[in-house]
Formats: sequence, structure tokens, C-alpha cells
Amino acid sequence: MSGAKYIGRFAPSPTGPLHAGSLVAALASWLDARAHAGQWLVRIEDVDLPRCVQGAEETIFAQLAACGLVPDEYEPVRQSARSPAYRSALERLNRLGLTYACGCTRRAIEDAMVSLGLLHERFEERVYPGTCRSGLHGKPARATRVLTVCGGIESVIHWKDRRLGPQRQNVAREVGDFVIQRADGLWAYQLAVVVDDAFQGITDVVRGEDLADNTARQIHLQRLLGLPELHYLHTPLVMGRDGHKLSKQNDATPLDTTQPLRCLADAGRVLELPAIHAPTVSEWLTTATQAWGAHWVKREPGSTSPGRMA
Ligand code: GLU
Repeated sequence: MSGAKYIGRFAPSPTGPLHAGSLVAALASWLDARAHAGQWLVRIEDVDLPRCVQGAEETIFAQLAACGLVPDEYEPVRQSARSPAYRSALERLNRLGLTYACGCTRRAIEDAMVSLGLLHERFEERVYPGTCRSGLHGKPARATRVLTVCGGIESVIHWKDRRLGPQRQNVAREVGDFVIQRADGLWAYQLAVVVDDAFQGITDVVRGEDLADNTARQIHLQRLLGLPELHYLHTPLVMGRDGHKLSKQNDATPLDTTQPLRCLADAGRVLELPAIHAPTVSEWLTTATQAWGAHWVKREPGSTSPGRMA
């Protein structure tokens, strides 16, 4: 076990109740914190308020509590209250000359990509070709973007995932300068997460593999803002009947926590834990913490000794 202080977090967006997939991320982050004798926090990611559902936060906390997952902090950080911190991070990037206003519509970005012979779709986002780096040229501002080519050097991020192994992304070429604030004031997930992880002293991010692709952008921002870099572990996803990641958009049904041991057993299977026969939630979690320590802490790829990789 690492002697360093460990603070982990689960960061749900309150857009609905937890489903089987979100419990996997919650349980993994809880187990990792416990196996490292660390703290576990829950952060409410309600930065995109129009998408949030009233009552979802309470439901999420009740579902977590039914499964024995109780945060070590009474009052959660809520992103809806964190605008001043995001603004000061943005102002810092502005002062460093690392941002610019962008007036491109999605259509304009596509047209620019076609004319450059570069139409490249990754997930639903387009790689931004840097059209507005030289100014808005009379267009109204629609967003603020952060540079991914600084001093002529492309941002190429290498990072190690404790489950997926070594990762590399050329952020400039595979993503392009990305949005950190929309013109209507909405803060982008990337900026909010980086600022909040630093504010809360998070040392370890354990979350679903669908978010792994964001990590390089987040490390890019951490470096520009002079914030600490973190350890990452991205967990396996639960697939829906349509073969896609279980989400509120496909057939994810809300987690029924009236039988918490069944929920935990299902999540434990996804996390490759051995079958645990325990009469109570707290005994299940104690055994699972030991199994997690043996499986995910002591045998990290490339690590010769127990503990997290530096
Ligand atoms: N709020 C994000 C989600 O619910 C998770 C962000 C993170 O863990 O970095 O998908």
C-alpha cells in the first residue's frame, strides 16, 4: 500500500438515478480509496444545470448509502456553486495567452475540415481545425477555446492507466483546441473537473472507461494551470442490450437497491472480483476491499512493488 495520502472521488451528474454501470464506477472508486486507507468523496457534477433532474442528487445518495457507500465528507462539492473558481482558472489561461474566442458553428467546423481534406469524426466531436486562432473576423463569439499547440509545439500527452496500461494522445491532432466555456456562460466538463479535482486534493481518479478519452485533455489543462497530475484507473463498462455502454439514453434501468447485495455482486463481477458470499453489505464490502487490494492495488501493470504507480 502506498504511504502517500490518497483522496478519491465519485463524480455523478445528477441527470437521473444510478444504473448498474454507474454503480461499477462508484464501487471501484470506493474500494480503491478503502484499499489505500484513503478518503472517498462524492462530487455532484451539476455544471450543466439544464440537464439536471430535480431530486436526482438525493436519489443517488440514497442508492449509494443502500450499498454501503457513504462519502467521508458531509456536504458534497456541487459544480453549480463553483463558477468563481472556473472563472479564475479561465482568467489565468487568458493572461497566459492560451485561450481565444471562437465563432464557429458545428457546420462551419465541418466545412473547414472538408476543405482541408481532414474530415475526421471521433465520437460525436469534430477535431477543431483552429479556424478562429487568428481572430473572429466579424463573427459573434460562441465559445472560448484553449490552445493545444503552444509555442508551435503540439500537446502530446502520455499517461498511464492502472488498468489499460500506457496511453498516448496527440491532443492537437486528435482533438484540436477545445472548448472550455460556451458563450452562454456554460463551463465545459474538462475545465470544471480539472479545477475541482485540484480544489478537493484528489489524488486518484477511478471512473468508467468511456471517460478515458478525456484524460489527455484534462492532463493538458492541469499542466497549463500548474495543477498536480493524478493517478487514473478506468473501469470496465456495462453494456446495454444494444451493445453500447449502458446509459440513460439506452435501456439503463435505475438501480434497484432494495437488494443491495445483488447490486454489489453484479458490480463486483464487472470489476473481476471473486464471488463474495457475505450476509451483510458491510461484510461484503470488507471482503471486497481485500480482494480489490490484491487484484488492483498489488498487481498494477508495470509495477514491481505494491502500491500505485508514480
Ligand atoms: N460527471 C461525469 C459523469 O457522470 C464523471 C466525471 C468524472 O468522473 O471525471 O459521467
